[in-house]
Amino acid sequence: MVFSGEQPRPHIAIIPSAGMGHLTPSCRLATTLAAQGCHVSLIVFHPMVSSAESKSMTNFFSSFPSIHPIHFNVVPLPGSGDPFFLQFEAIRQSPHLLLPLLTSSSSPPITSIIVDISLASTFLPAISPTGISTFIFFTASASMLALCAYFPTHIDIDQNKRSKDHVDVPGVGVIPMASIPPRLHNPSDLFTTQFVANGRALMQANGVLINTFEALEPETLTAFNNGVVLPGFPPVMAVGPVKQLPLMETSAALPWLDAQMERSVVYVSFGSRTGMSVEQIRELGVGLERSGAKFLWVIKTKMVDKEEAQVELKELLGEELVERIKEIGSMVVHGWVEQEEILKHGAVGGFVSHCGWNSVMEAALHGVPVLAWPQIGDQKVNAEVVRRSGLGIWVEEWSWGGQEGKVVKGEEIAERVKELMDSPVVCSSAARVAAEAVKAVGDGGSSEKSLAEFIAKLEGVK
Ligand code: UDP
Ligand code: UDP
Repeated sequence: MVFSGEQPRPHIAIIPSAGMGHLTPSCRLATTLAAQGCHVSLIVFHPMVSSAESKSMTNFFSSFPSIHPIHFNVVPLPGSGDPFFLQFEAIRQSPHLLLPLLTSSSSPPITSIIVDISLASTFLPAISPTGISTFIFFTASASMLALCAYFPTHIDIDQNKRSKDHVDVPGVGVIPMASIPPRLHNPSDLFTTQFVANGRALMQANGVLINTFEALEPETLTAFNNGVVLPGFPPVMAVGPVKQLPLMETSAALPWLDAQMERSVVYVSFGSRTGMSVEQIRELGVGLERSGAKFLWVIKTKMVDKEEAQVELKELLGEELVERIKEIGSMVVHGWVEQEEILKHGAVGGFVSHCGWNSVMEAALHGVPVLAWPQIGDQKVNAEVVRRSGLGIWVEEWSWGGQEGKVVKGEEIAERVKELMDSPVVCSSAARVAAEAVKAVGDGGSSEKSLAEFIAKLEGVK
């Protein structure tokens, strides 16, 4: 612990964004900073979009009573579309209401604020007049940070002079247009407007904390910190994989996993908010069955868990497939599982993943080889990190899930799952990544040093 005894302890407020992919790492960061002796307040935005968020926040504050919740009601925005995205926007529109609350009533006074990247462009200018130092928390890969930071410069280049095929980030390399979040192809999409504004706002921050680690993305992090990506860019401090949290509950899959052979099970999940088409779900089922591996498959058909209808698996997968899955002794869960509990279980030998960044970090920490199948957003950029680092394989031809009605056939899926589970090369390179991840957060590791660098920047420390 850095701050103890008579030393003034900084008070850090963390402003997370919506969705488990943002909330989970923010909670993990909160506990990491509290363990350093900082006072930590975490803003809790109501109403929450998913039950997973509500449950996890209740569990979090009862497990960590030293972390102070600041509850805030956002004014919901009308409109249809991605409800998580609408919540981002509602939060983005609230700094004038939230900040007076933070600055007037917090005791001890707040000395630093950490803001989720998706809120940067409205919160940073609002915080600036208060004189409170501001840091960004970037919840995805350093490659994605490179895209976020450089994209505004890319689109400022004359249309006729800039590449239509890729974004060429200085010191990082090219990111193909086919890999960038699809919504960025439309300059008038609200996501693009926010993304560009947030990218520009990064320059105003006192620093950027990012949930990755040096050995996973060394060139990208070096390019940032040598001023090659953008001159004058704030320090980027890689502090990941951020500390794990206690489990919400023990999942029903655990006794089943206990009965399986070591590294024999492939775990299949596409995150907290990615629903697949019924047709693709069925092909995936056929592929998993044909792969010959035992599998633990988490199915989501809706983006928001509250809307997840209690459809019988038989209806979803077809009676025959359900019967065959039963016969081969595999397991399907239509709902939430404690993913970390699964990834750290010795029976799990592979992970078919959408490559949400938290899932990638969790797989990296536990050395589980990944078969990347990006579905939306930043996931292709993250999948490239998975491939380059040796954490897993990525079948680029599969493209985005469900794009243009394309369905990946069961036979193809089976082949790649076999490759994932049978390749000693992938297995040993994933183990090497895990060893680096553990080293990074251990004593004297790169992430521990970055955390110390961040702490040294906080007020009250010479
Ligand atoms: N998660 C989980 N159980 C589930 C689905 C997701 O515990 O059934 C967790 C997962 O471990 C990760 C987070 O929810 O910490 C999802 O974040 P990620 O960035 O992987 O993907 P997103 O859901 O944002 O697409
Ligand atoms: N992101 C970013 N700048 C922004 C907003 C988001 O770089 O202004 C990144 C962030 O890392 C996020 C990713 O882009 O994880 C994809 O955002 P999206 O909203 O599609 O997905 P989510 O993170 O909610 O799953």
